[in-house]
Amino acid sequence: MKPIKMVDLLGQYQRIKPEIDQAIQQVLTATEFIQGPPVRQFESALSTFLDGAHVVTCGNGTDALQIAMMALDFEPGDEVILPVHTYVATAEVIALLRLVPVFAEVNPDTFTIDPAGIERLITKKTVAIVPVHLYGQCADMKPILEIASRHGLKVIEDGAQSLGADYFSDAVRAKGCTLGTIGTTSFFPSKNLGAFGDGGAMITRDEKLASRLRMIANHGQQKKYQHDIIGVNSRLDTLQAAILSVKLKYLSDYATRRNSVASFYDDHLNDSPFVKTPVRATYSTHVFHQYTIKVQGVGRDSLKNYLQEKGIPTMIYYPIPLHLQLAYRRAGFDEGAFPITETLSRTVLSLPIHTEMDEEQLSYICETIGRFS
Ligand SMILES: *Cc1c(COP(=O)(O)O)cnc(C)c1O
Repeated sequence: MKPIKMVDLLGQYQRIKPEIDQAIQQVLTATEFIQGPPVRQFESALSTFLDGAHVVTCGNGTDALQIAMMALDFEPGDEVILPVHTYVATAEVIALLRLVPVFAEVNPDTFTIDPAGIERLITKKTVAIVPVHLYGQCADMKPILEIASRHGLKVIEDGAQSLGADYFSDAVRAKGCTLGTIGTTSFFPSKNLGAFGDGGAMITRDEKLASRLRMIANHGQQKKYQHDIIGVNSRLDTLQAAILSVKLKYLSDYATRRNSVASFYDDHLNDSPFVKTPVRATYSTHVFHQYTIKVQGVGRDSLKNYLQEKGIPTMIYYPIPLHLQLAYRRAGFDEGAFPITETLSRTVLSLPIHTEMDEEQLSYICETIGRFS
């Protein structure tokens, strides 16, 4: 049996090596390493994939969130609501811009922001809601968009883990990241569309906003040496864009493969008394960036250690909730403030899932979990 890994970037590369190598070689000989033609070509291909929404690439997914918030002209002290169960980047850019992160509890089954808890967090200073499409499934966007429109708030979708997931309800059906004011994503190597380094993108249906995002990502300039607004330097490398254009063609296939792995786990772990398999929301497709179970009745860490001894890696996303992180203690929350998220931090476990897993590995993982006592 092949060794089991959380991600298998080498195996994924080897399946499309000739195409990738050719794309890289072309960039090396053209030598337009910064903002070469492959960057716009990739933006245009991703735009097509996202049903025509405007795409502006940047240096990474964290920058994408930051530039999005810069483009919306928030003032220091303005409040931004985000789920407390997320990766630190979501909160970090809010704090960095001297905005105030306002944590919201998540739904224990879908792991995404609970719309029912949002409205009571809204004050006169609230300017935006940032739903995070965690683990590869969209947050419940319809009620979030309704709340936002009732209160005149912007919506920034953090789609770093969900590129390719669709949201649907009676009122809307669309690609995740195209429903709110701005969507953001990441091309970190282990994400569903992974580069061979850092990368990120912002997505919007608003053409004016798209050019503003593009300006901010490029030192606030539209014309060289003419700086109309304060910007940053955040670019997707030409090399990464060329690689991503090749991999984008396989993104739907990657999602199918991840879904097969997830279905195998569903089928073989459902009977385990201490495993709660992830819930599939009725309003979203799932691209399974992570397959995250909840461990019940036994210690999560003892299961994790047992699997480690059997050669099965697992990860905990995320072991310490944001409100209990030292950097975010200023918000003044203590243990007990977000009981659902705190329980998740003690019970979630992400199993290996990637595009290269085979049935032998999957059977071994499920049988090994089945033998745990
Ligand atoms: C990965 C990730 C980011 C940040 O992306 P980078 O490209 O690593 O900066 C932001 N939000 C979430 C939810 C992520 O998973």
